Amino acid sequence: MTWQSKKPILVAFCALLLAIGILWLLAVQVSKSYDTEINRIQSETENIGIAAEQELIGKLELIKIKQSIAAEKIQPILDNGKLNANDTEKLKTVLEYFLTQVKDSRAVGIINSSHEILSSVSTDDQDLLSASIFVPSKTDAVEMFSANGRSNIYISQRLDPTSEESASILSAINANQLIKKISILKNNKQASIFLFDKDIKPLKKNLEKINITNHLAAFQSFIQSNQQSSSFTINSKTQSTQINLRRVGDSALYIAIFNQNESNLSTWKNNTIFYIIGCILIQGFLLQILYSLARAKRMNQTLFLKETKLSASETRFRQMIEAMPIGLILARRQDNLIVYINKPAAKILDMPQASALSKRAFSIYSNEMDFTSQTNHVFESKTSQSIECILKKNTGEPFWANISISMVDVADTQTLLIGIVDISEQKKLEADLKHQATIDHLSGLYNRAHFINSSNKEIQRIQRHKKNASLLMLDIDHFKRVNDNHGHDAGDLVIQIIALTCQETLRDIDIVGRLGGEEFAALLPETSAHEALNVAERLRIAIEKRAIKLKSGQIINITSSIGVTEVTPNDAIIDIALKRADLAMYSSKNNGRNQVQYFDTTQE
Ligand code: GH3
Ligand code: MG
Ligand code: MG
Repeated sequence: MTWQSKKPILVAFCALLLAIGILWLLAVQVSKSYDTEINRIQSETENIGIAAEQELIGKLELIKIKQSIAAEKIQPILDNGKLNANDTEKLKTVLEYFLTQVKDSRAVGIINSSHEILSSVSTDDQDLLSASIFVPSKTDAVEMFSANGRSNIYISQRLDPTSEESASILSAINANQLIKKISILKNNKQASIFLFDKDIKPLKKNLEKINITNHLAAFQSFIQSNQQSSSFTINSKTQSTQINLRRVGDSALYIAIFNQNESNLSTWKNNTIFYIIGCILIQGFLLQILYSLARAKRMNQTLFLKETKLSASETRFRQMIEAMPIGLILARRQDNLIVYINKPAAKILDMPQASALSKRAFSIYSNEMDFTSQTNHVFESKTSQSIECILKKNTGEPFWANISISMVDVADTQTLLIGIVDISEQKKLEADLKHQATIDHLSGLYNRAHFINSSNKEIQRIQRHKKNASLLMLDIDHFKRVNDNHGHDAGDLVIQIIALTCQETLRDIDIVGRLGGEEFAALLPETSAHEALNVAERLRIAIEKRAIKLKSGQIINITSSIGVTEVTPNDAIIDIALKRADLAMYSSKNNGRNQVQYFDTTQE
C-alpha cells in the first residue's frame, strides 16, 4: 500500500478525531451547563426557602395577632380574680371564637404561670391532651411538638407581656395543614417543604419521598450551627435534589425545601466521566494509529530513498557491465541460475539475452566438470579464477574461451560474476603458428626441427623401455634434373608426392619429416633393423612405381636412395643415428642409387 492510497484513511481518521474532540468539548460543555443548572436550582431552592419562610412567619404572626386579640378579651375576665361559671363560659366563648378564626388551629387554651390549664377548647381531645402535656420553653414561644402521630405548632403568648406571672394563651396549630397552605410551593411543583424541630422528629414521618437517613448528620449539624440557612445537594443515579434548610425567624421551627431536578443533565453529568474516559481511550488509540501511519510514511520515504539510491547504483552497475567489451554473466551461487547477461556475452554464446536467464551457468560449458572445479576453487580460495576452456554456444557449437569467475555480493545475494572472452581466433592463430613451427609447409610432414624434437622424445622412450627403433633416411635421386628439366614447380610437386607416398607407406606412429631440400627421414618406433629394411624396401618400390603427372601433363618416374640404421638406447640424441642413416643413404647413392642400404653399427 502506498502512502497516497493511505491518504483517505488518514483523512477519515482526522475527521473521527475531530468528531471525538467535539464530543469531548460537548461533554465538558454539558458538565459546565450542569454546574450552571445546579447553581440555578440551588439559588431557586434558596429563593423558594426564603419565600416559604417569610410566608410561614407571616402566617404565624397572623395567628399571634389573633391570639393578642383573644388575649385582650381574656385579660379582663382573669383580672376579676377567681373565675366563676360565667367567667369560664366567657373564656370558652373567646377561645372558641379564636378556633373559628384560626382555621388550622386544633386547640387553644389558657395556662397559668404554673403551667396549669385554666381553660381550653379543642377540636379534638387528643390535641387538648397534647396541649396539657406540652410545656413551652419560653413564655412567648413558637415550638413544635408531635404526639400520637399528629404534629402541632404550639404558639404561646403571655396575656400580659409586661408581667412574668401572667397567664398565657397557647394554641396548637395543625403543622401539616399550615405548611400545605404555603403558596410558593403551589407554583413550584417539583419542590416540597418539610417542617421540623431541633429533634427532627416530624421529618421522619413526613419525608417519605426522600430517604434522608443518610443525611441526617447534615440536618443536625445545621441545627447546631445556629445558622439561618444552609444548602446542599443529594445526588442519586437519576436525579439530584437540592436541599435548603432554614430556621423560621427566631422560632424553634425549621423548614427544609427539597427541590428535585430530574433533568437529563444529571444523567449526562453522572456519565460524563465515562464519556471522557472513552474519548481519551479512543483518541489515544487513534493517535497511536496516526503515529504508526506517520512512522510508516517516514519509513516508506526512507525505503524509497534507499531504493532510489540502490536502483541508481544498480543502474550504473548494469550500464557499466552492459558497456563492458567482454561478456559478463551474473549467476546466483545457490542454484547457479543466470540472473543477468550482458550483450557481449549473449553475442559470444549466440543466444538472446532473455533466453539466457532461464539457464544455469554450467550449461554454457562443454564439459560441466570445468565449471564445478573452477567454482570450487573460487569458493575455497575466495579469489577469482581464470581458465581457458571450451564453452558451447546456444547451437551446441564448441569454442575456446577464457573464462574467469569471481564471487560478488549483489543485493545481499552471493553471486558468481562470470567473465567470458572468446579466444577461438587466438587459439586458431596459436594452432597455425604451432603448425607453421612444426610442419613443413610444402610436404605437410614435420620440419627438420620438429622431427628432431619428436625423435629425441622417442629416444627417451626407447631408453626408458629399452625397445629399439629404426631410422630411415631418404634422398630423391637426381632431383636437380627434375628442377632443371621440368621447372621448380614440378620439383615441388615431386617433393609433395614423395611425402604423400611416405605417409601412405609408413604407420601413423612413425615420425616422418622433411629434413631439407629433397631429403626425408622417418623414425619407426619399436621396429627392428630387419623390419625397417623391409619397410624401406617397400617404400623405395612405392616411389619407383609411382607415376607422377606433372602440370604439363607429362608423366615422370622418380627413384630414391634410402639409408637405414637401428636406433638404440646408446644413442643419446637422434643426430647420432641420423649421421649413420645419412652414411647408409650415401652408400646407396654410391652404389648406384634406387636402393636401400643398412648402416651396420659394426661398420663404425
Ligand atoms: P643426387 O642423386 O646425387 O642426390 O642428385 P641430385 O640432383 O638430387 O643432387 P642434390 O641432392 O645435390 O640436389 C638437390 C637439389 O634439390 C638442389 C636444389 O636445387 C634442389 N632443391 C632443394 N630444395 C628444393 C625445393 O624445395 N624445391 C625444388 N624444386 N628444388 C629443390
Ligand atoms: Mg639431396
Ligand atoms: Mg638428391
